[in-house]
Amino acid sequence: MALLLAALPGIAPGQVRDPLPVPDVLGFKTLKCDFHIHTIFSDGEVWPTTRVMEAWQDGLDAIALTDHVGHHPHRADVSTDLQRVFEVALPEADRLGVILIPGGEVMEGNTHFNALFVTDAMAFGSMKLLPALRVAAAQKAFVLWNHPGWKETPRWSELVATAHQESLFQGVELVNGLTFYPEVLPLARAKGLTMLANSDVHGPIRTEFAERTRPITLVLSKTRDTAGIREALDAGRTAVWVNGQIWGDAAILTALWAGSVEPQGDRMSLGGSGKSAALTIVNRSAIPFHTRVTGCPAWLYCGGTGIEPRRAGLLSVSPAKNPPAGVHRIEIELEVTNLHTVPDSNLHVRLPVEIEIRP
Ligand SMILES: [Zn+2]
Ligand SMILES: [Zn+2]
Repeated sequence: MALLLAALPGIAPGQVRDPLPVPDVLGFKTLKCDFHIHTIFSDGEVWPTTRVMEAWQDGLDAIALTDHVGHHPHRADVSTDLQRVFEVALPEADRLGVILIPGGEVMEGNTHFNALFVTDAMAFGSMKLLPALRVAAAQKAFVLWNHPGWKETPRWSELVATAHQESLFQGVELVNGLTFYPEVLPLARAKGLTMLANSDVHGPIRTEFAERTRPITLVLSKTRDTAGIREALDAGRTAVWVNGQIWGDAAILTALWAGSVEPQGDRMSLGGSGKSAALTIVNRSAIPFHTRVTGCPAWLYCGGTGIEPRRAGLLSVSPAKNPPAGVHRIEIELEVTNLHTVPDSNLHVRLPVEIEIRP
């Protein structure tokens, strides 16, 4: 029997991908990306092709492998040639359909920046930060300020200010790993920086993040390719997603809600006092929506609902005082408490429903 089972064809666990469905919105493709990942070529613990497989399994569209420039604790055993990271990973990325973006992390003290879309990751040598960022600019890189609150409160230091004055970076991590930097939200808005959420993973991904807690930058891209991602990052069309929470512009979040959630039928029928009715709301996406009722007619009680990813939730109503007989078109107003509109509010949505009050 054991032999028989051993011989049965099966799917290796490594060949299973969570498609992590997220709706395309506002006429763009919604790409799931992680632009800050380390490999064994710097201080990570993982070979580049394994990073690609992890990203495929996690449902990502694109990753950047961004090893530290000039920090190679495995140098006695592993090459320090950062160009090789991209070259080694590319065939696996092509095989699995994961978009691979070349990159590197340059640093000075606690101030670190990722340069993406670099053409020569070895050109930075042992330069200090500003000269390295100027080289990145010459390579037309997209540069982001990493973990702006690492080991300190996020602050617009002289070094960061100089880099910004010289237009040497365009983005900032609102989320790094499982750390969210609230101070960065107003800063990103004031300075016109693109917001990102990246893992900065060093060990195997499952040793640092449980399933669906991995930070993801949602990129609203015209096309599912490197050029599309670059254009979207330059234009600032991102939202950041970590551990069930999303931050972004109200228009993007509203569209994510509308593209994910669909009520099953829209007529609820109530037959007098003491009875209740419920509306099933299906969520086709991997995004959870936790709601709280903020608006409901005075003659009705409305209950909020948690609509879990790829599940349905129930929205319940029951009659309050003197419900008027007949059919009424109403809108139930909901606050989505885990979707945060920049800079400091939660998403508010309206759910149109028809209520029939029978005598
Ligand atoms: Zn760093
Ligand atoms: Zn890093």
